[in-house]
Amino acid sequence: MPSNDPLADYRNKRDLSRSPEPEGGAPSEAPRFVIQKHAARALHYDFRLESDGVLASWAVPKGPSTNPDDRRLAIHVEDHPLDYADFEGVIPEGEYGAGPVIIWDRGTYRNLMADKDEPLSVGESIEAGHVEVWLDGEKLRGGYTLVRIDDEKDQWLLIKMKDDEVDRRRNPVSTQPESVVSGMTIEQMKASAGDE
Ligand code: MN
Repeated sequence: MPSNDPLADYRNKRDLSRSPEPEGGAPSEAPRFVIQKHAARALHYDFRLESDGVLASWAVPKGPSTNPDDRRLAIHVEDHPLDYADFEGVIPEGEYGAGPVIIWDRGTYRNLMADKDEPLSVGESIEAGHVEVWLDGEKLRGGYTLVRIDDEKDQWLLIKMKDDEVDRRRNPVSTQPESVVSGMTIEQMKASAGDE
């Protein structure tokens, strides 16, 4: 059945009666971003931007960098519900994406493409394959570009823009591994589900 529901893919992949993951959510005043560290079959960081009532999402295997020389592969994945921005926990074994999730960073963002001569919404920027946002997070600040490099595989690169927030040595993915919400590492989150 054809559907205009942006979350159809999300729901089709999951059994939400078995997984603790959220189903919906309402928009906030300032658009939010979240970066979740997710130890599924392969560890990755899910980079999500609130846009058009959902969280547009990319899976970034190496996570974001504060060094503009780094070009981090980002695979565009299915939209997620807005409440996912508050989710951390353990997706049970046997379910889609099984494994622990922590909120590695979060905050609000500004759409830098809205300030151009031909302004674009985030949704339009995704269509066009070039997104520019200013993040105000707890770990990450400053401009980030997402640029599509492969239409067929929907592969993108996540790159720090050159601005005052550049730090070539900081490497927050390794030096600040814990959740900004619970303070837990991904290993502690995994262990927290051990007794269920
Ligand atoms: Mn994920």
